[in-house]
Amino acid sequence: MSTETKTTCPYCGVGCGVIARIDDNGTVSVKGDPDHPANFGRLCSKGSALAETIDLSGRILHPQIDGRRAGWDEALDLVATRFSETIAEHGPDSVAFYVSGQLLTEDYYVANKLMKGFIGSANIDTNSRLCMSSSVAGHRRAFGADTVPGTYEDIELADLVVLTGSNLAWCHPVIYQRLAAAKAARPGMKVVVIDPRRTMTADIADLHLAIRPDGDVALFMGLLAHLAGTAAIDQNYIGTHTNGFAEAFAAASVLGIAELMELTGLPSMQLRQFFRLFEETEKVVTCYSQGVNQSASGTDKVNAIINCHLATGRIGRPGMGPFSLTGQPNAMGGREVGGLANMLAAHMAIESREDCDRVQRFWRSPAITRRPGLKAVDMFRAVADGRVKALWIMATNPVVSMPDADAVAAAIAACPFVVVSDVLQETDTTKLAHVLLPSLGWAEKDGTVTNSERRISRQRAYLAAPGEAKADWWQLAEVGRRMGFEDAFSFPTAATIFAEHAALSAFENEGGRDFDIGAYARIDGAAYDRLAPFQWPQPAASQVQTTRFFADGGFFHADRKARFVAVNAPATDRTTADFPLTLNTGRIRDQWHTMTRTGKSARLSAHIAEPFAEIHPRDAIEIGVASAGLVEIESPYGKAVVRALVTERQARGSLFVPMHWNDQFAAKARIDAVVAPITDPFSGQPASKNVAIAARRL
Ligand code: SF4
Repeated sequence: MSTETKTTCPYCGVGCGVIARIDDNGTVSVKGDPDHPANFGRLCSKGSALAETIDLSGRILHPQIDGRRAGWDEALDLVATRFSETIAEHGPDSVAFYVSGQLLTEDYYVANKLMKGFIGSANIDTNSRLCMSSSVAGHRRAFGADTVPGTYEDIELADLVVLTGSNLAWCHPVIYQRLAAAKAARPGMKVVVIDPRRTMTADIADLHLAIRPDGDVALFMGLLAHLAGTAAIDQNYIGTHTNGFAEAFAAASVLGIAELMELTGLPSMQLRQFFRLFEETEKVVTCYSQGVNQSASGTDKVNAIINCHLATGRIGRPGMGPFSLTGQPNAMGGREVGGLANMLAAHMAIESREDCDRVQRFWRSPAITRRPGLKAVDMFRAVADGRVKALWIMATNPVVSMPDADAVAAAIAACPFVVVSDVLQETDTTKLAHVLLPSLGWAEKDGTVTNSERRISRQRAYLAAPGEAKADWWQLAEVGRRMGFEDAFSFPTAATIFAEHAALSAFENEGGRDFDIGAYARIDGAAYDRLAPFQWPQPAASQVQTTRFFADGGFFHADRKARFVAVNAPATDRTTADFPLTLNTGRIRDQWHTMTRTGKSARLSAHIAEPFAEIHPRDAIEIGVASAGLVEIESPYGKAVVRALVTERQARGSLFVPMHWNDQFAAKARIDAVVAPITDPFSGQPASKNVAIAARRL
């Protein structure tokens, strides 16, 4: 008899519901879940091909120590012993976890509890640092908490949708489908796309602003200054619910039209057209993604956008608000349990003595950390210079995806003790592991994920664990028990971890924090199995679900007011005589991250078969390359080789190269070997855009 299981797509932050069906003959197929509020039955090409990526070829099926097969007890004892010995000799900050937005919330919770509450260090960071940490920092500065105010429905209800730094059509395809359908139904709806490239998303745009890389801060400063002189400004909202408008306005006002044109690269007519459109349309949603976040000024970009919504009071009401679209399936869930080195748990602040005391009381932990740990780029620098001597990497491939990737590879190779938990035997990172642990993959593991609109959904297992593979949370808990923390890490099931996470979110939280799912603090296994998608918060006391935040203020700073942030426009040109071009990296439609799963699908690989660089025709002439010719791209950090794709969609002076390919799929294709390890000063997020490079024909 066939069976059907409701689960959630493991790729992007849209978080689509999926129904996985196993037929009598064992064949697996997938379709969109018509009841899931993120996608209402839709799936994109990646989600539709999930069944093509779940075969066992290339899987790790047994623990391994230095390349030989080992039992779980031997491997876990070794991990616990080496971590304990390293901590005893060099202190808790000599060890680190580098985890992933691919982990489920339950995995993340146990990792964070072990590192921050029991080892006593905050050296746990995640590849989500590369994805959306600038949005986290921007939210915390403006709102006092990492709160996404709106919901996907707002994108459909808006009369103007501004997409900045977002190739929605390829990176969040189901939201793009929802937007395109809403625009088709209401042709008066306007879409503005702000992107140096004319991407597929721009095909539905009423206005495409081909902005200079990193010109966004200046653009939204100019918008704030413009709005201040119009009827769109909401003095009542500003006066009642915010602080700092005068300072932000004064900072924004320093840019005249000539400076705005210079910093954004946009003609005055387009600037004025955008400003007027924003001014005259009350229902505006501004969506932003990696083009905003992956920048040395990413946090300021986020706050420059939020400033404009606060100034007009267009936040938290239907069809209005700033909207961060997260890249990964569980970047949000990781944030909720404190999976970033500068956060605690349940959106509590690691800088707050009160919050640290509260979490310590709840966990009954011996050694809670009280200061931020190493963020991703700094963590691998600490591995390189020997400060971190034992490293556990889970569900991510930093040798491909970190900036300055060759240096990261060298650092991991020289680290005295490296543990990698993964599903695949052969990745650029697993090759460097002393201990390799087999993890459950999508279709085999149980837990929850949170999407970009704060919706928590279940991922459910519908296939048996292959070989001796185990859940990531189980591996962490077993190591915690072996390190002497028996009671705190006795989790029999994922449901018990979720219940503890929910209880912590409500612990001593009488409406004082945004993240509260106390309604699930006593959830049992059967209810967890049945758990339907829901948006947080869901506090126990009221059982009332708040779908939007901040229409009537209620921010999370102590005075319950939002903060305008006075930002300054950064210089946007990083090029030099030796590196005269600009590189922007990003995603393509049919591949995911470092291709360890989507690379298995011939159908997905047929979309674009090789790594490429989009190059403007005039730049191609100067480089001396035609489409399909090979180009070597170089920065002071490394080199990569890709095929030229000459197109007028690309702005003059800048190249676009996808971040997916690695040495498993094509020689010298790791573009992150070229990307400089420059980070945003507030979020620590690396700037994967606006990299100064040279390009030459091979
Ligand atoms: Fe999966 Fe994102 Fe596609 Fe939805 S839009 S099916 S979550 S990859």
